[in-house]
Parts: sequence; C-alpha cells; structure tokens
Amino acid sequence: MADLQTIKSELAIIGTGFAGIAAAVFASRNGITTSQIGVSGGILYASGYFDLMGVHPVKEQKVWNNPWDAIDALIKDVPLHPYARLSKADIRESMDQFVGFLNETGLPYKKEDDRNVSVITPIGTVKPTYCVPASMWNGVAALLDERPMLIVDFWGLKGFSAMQITEMLTQNGRANLRAVRIPFPSVDLSTDLFPERMAWSMEVEENIVKLADEIRPHLNGAQVIGLPAILGIHRTETIMSGLKDLLGCDIFEIPTIPPSITGLRIKEKAETTLPQRGVHLFSQKRVVSVKSGKNGGFVLDVGDRATGEPEHRIEADGVILASGRFLGMGLHAGRKNIQETLFDLTVFQPGDRSDWHQKDFFDSRGHEINQAGIEIDETFRPVGIDGKPVFDNLFAAGSILAHQDWIRQKCGAGLAVSTAYAAVRSFMKQVKNR
Ligand SMILES: Cc1cc2nc3c(=O)[nH]c(=O)nc-3n(C[C@H](O)[C@H](O)[C@H](O)COP(=O)(O)OP(=O)(O)OC[C@H]3O[C@@H](n4cnc5c(N)ncnc54)[C@H](O)[C@@H]3O)c2cc1C
Repeated sequence: MADLQTIKSELAIIGTGFAGIAAAVFASRNGITTSQIGVSGGILYASGYFDLMGVHPVKEQKVWNNPWDAIDALIKDVPLHPYARLSKADIRESMDQFVGFLNETGLPYKKEDDRNVSVITPIGTVKPTYCVPASMWNGVAALLDERPMLIVDFWGLKGFSAMQITEMLTQNGRANLRAVRIPFPSVDLSTDLFPERMAWSMEVEENIVKLADEIRPHLNGAQVIGLPAILGIHRTETIMSGLKDLLGCDIFEIPTIPPSITGLRIKEKAETTLPQRGVHLFSQKRVVSVKSGKNGGFVLDVGDRATGEPEHRIEADGVILASGRFLGMGLHAGRKNIQETLFDLTVFQPGDRSDWHQKDFFDSRGHEINQAGIEIDETFRPVGIDGKPVFDNLFAAGSILAHQDWIRQKCGAGLAVSTAYAAVRSFMKQVKNR
C-alpha cells in the first residue's frame, strides 16, 4: 500500500449527520482546526423540522407545548438522558448558534423561543416541533387560522397525497381545505417524479411562472397554498416570493417522505460553507480504522465508503464520535449483541436479544433497542463498564448516545445539536487548552 497523505488536525469529527454538522459548526466558530469524515447520515431523511423535546412520558404520549418544561420533566424521570448532562442555557445557546449558522448561510429557520409549534407531517398528521424552516412557517399559522387553504400535489410524485393531507387535517379540526393534483411543469409525465429533480428544476426562473400557471385555475378563493417541499435547493426564498407575487397567496412547504429536500438543503449548505470556514471535509468517505497515535492523539485512516480502501490519514489530538445508531452505522446489531463499530466501546443495551423489541411493533412504550448506545461521563467522554472514560480525548454526540429514544421523544435535532455543542466545549477545555 502506498504511503497515505497525512493531514494533521486538532479535532477529527466522525459523522456528517446532524450531530457531526453541528459539531463542525461549533468547532469552526471556536477556531479549532478540524477534519470531518462521513457519508450522508439521517439528515437526508429528516423532515427539516428541528425537534427539541415534544413527548414525555412516551408511554402516555404526553405532548408538551413548552419544550423546556418537557426537558425538566424528562430529566427528573430519566436522569441518564443526555439532556441531563446539559443546562437549559447550554441547550438554548446551542440551538441559537446552530440556527444562526443556517441563517447566515441563507437557509432561514423560525421558532418561538419558549414553545413548540404544531406542524404538518408528510402524511397529514400534526406534530409538535421547535424550529421550522422559514419556507414552512406559513403552514404553522395556516393550521391555526381559517383562511381558505389549497394543498397541491403532482401527478407522478409518490408518497405525497394532498387528498390524504386534507382529510387528516379535516379530522384534526381544520376547516376550509381543498386538495388538487396538477402536472409538474416541464417534466415528461410518463416518468415518476423525484423531489430532488423537481427542486432543481424549480431553480429555473421560467418554471416558477409555469407552476403558477398550473395552480391559478384551481385557486377558487384560496388564500394560502401548501406544496410539497420541492421549491428549489438554493433559492427557495426567491422562488416562494415569486409564487406569492404571481398567485397573491401565502405559500408554504410541507415535508415529503424521505429522502427529503429540506435535509438536502442543510447538507448542501454545510458542505459549501464549512470548508470555507476551515473544516477539512472528507465527504462520502468513512473512517476505516482508528488507533492511538504519538503524544496521546489518534490516527484515523479514511477510505472509500464502498471498498474501505484507505486513501488518507488524519492525525488528531482529539475525536468527536458522531457516528449515529444503526442507520448511521455507528452501532451494529449482531446476532447476539450490539457493537460500536470503530472503537469497540461498551454499548448500553438490553441483556438479551429477545428484549430488544416489544411483541407489538406499535407498543406505546417503544422498543428497548431504541435506548441502546454509548454511556458518557459529564464531559461527554464514552465510559467503560467501570464508569471511567475510555480515552481522555474521545467525546461522543448525537443519536449514538444511550438512554434516549429521539424518535418517540421528538428530540432528534435538539439532542444532536446540544450534545455536539457540549462535546466541542469539552474538547476545548480538556484537549485544546490543556
Ligand atoms: C426518517 C427520519 C426522519 C427524521 N425526522 C426528524 C424530524 O422531523 N425532526 C428532528 O429533529 N429530527 C429528525 N430526524 C433525526 C435527525 O435527522 C438525525 O438523524 C438524528 O438527530 C441523529 O443524528 P446523528 O448525526 O446523531 O446521526 P446520523 O444522522 O445517523 O449520522 C451519523 C453519521 O456518522 C457517519 N458515520 C458512521 N460511521 C462512520 C465511519 N466509520 N466513518 C465516518 N463516518 C461514519 C455516517 O456516515 C453519518 O454521517 C429524522 C431522522 C430520520 C432518519
């Protein structure tokens, strides 16, 4: 094997999902020289809504209007939840800084500081969330008022039904709703439509006019229009204000089922902006091996996602492990137990495989396997079975952490962003400034 080109960084971040991106944002803000490695994580599947804390206890399906009160209740009942390692001021600061980053890159988000808002999901249910892409914010108001609303879908777009959404919202008490299915402009109707292709085609000016022309005959007094989230990748605000001017209605996007354009927008912004801020990004690459290096640092070999053949070597003083759970491949479920895939860290997990899942898939308690993960000390360092940190300079963040069920608790983005913030801060204190 030829000698690998070696890159020296203070910090290596393993993962380019929500937690990895957030860690890279915080690291670059703090002037840390950083390498980041990963394949697109769950972010490409995410709705774009940033959940902070919505449901607790999961078994009772108690929905909270105030995420901060929900966090208080959660920490009281689940003292090992990663949120219990953070102050509310830190969680708030991390969300503000992350949203600030997205705003700076031209991807605005909106929130009420102290309350969750209700948003429409791709199947028409309504869920609580904390922070909403500006392109979806009109949908929050439209759920509450009674203005005539039109939901639009397209012939050939699978998994997004305006009819289903209007029926679900009507059951939820929203009146004055209509659905319409129209052709998507400038696309061969004999083929299936894919959200990414539609979003790129909306970047072309003339297609905005054509889309407005398709919608206009169906307005019939509608004052607000919901469309699937396909309104561009880079110019969503411009496209939406163009449609608003042409149709005279408020416009909002509704997330599509995965893969989602809203996640892709965040990924695109991170991949263009973070390297400009000094992050050395190895996109669509994997860390194939890690070993201890000289002076107590780590040596990471980075390779092709498919072949695993090493192509680069990174020497780093410290590592943040943000490699996700099973989808991200930070954890692997074997026949007998669950393993962490890079450092062979101790994984908190049910004693026996038969306890991984409840018998009923929809059991209101959720499944034990969704609490599995890495246990950490108060500075986000993974600990062994003796409760002591395995390395002084290894930190973990995001969904790989144990004792949380982010899907059911509705805390995906909040958990990823706030634990990444804490991991970077610990790296600063314990490695960079030691
Ligand atoms: C279908 C779906 C819908 C969602 N909807 C929402 C929502 O509505 N609201 C919300 O707040 N959150 C939502 N989320 C959650 C959110 O997108 C994040 O997935 C979640 O918060 C976990 O992020 P993470 O970065 O910890 O892990 P992941 O997103 O799983 O990322 C893990 C990363 O680690 C990398 N990795 C793993 N092993 C290696 C290795 N050896 N070398 C290099 N890199 C490695 C992967 O390539 C990946 O980049 C949703 C997620 C999914 C899947």
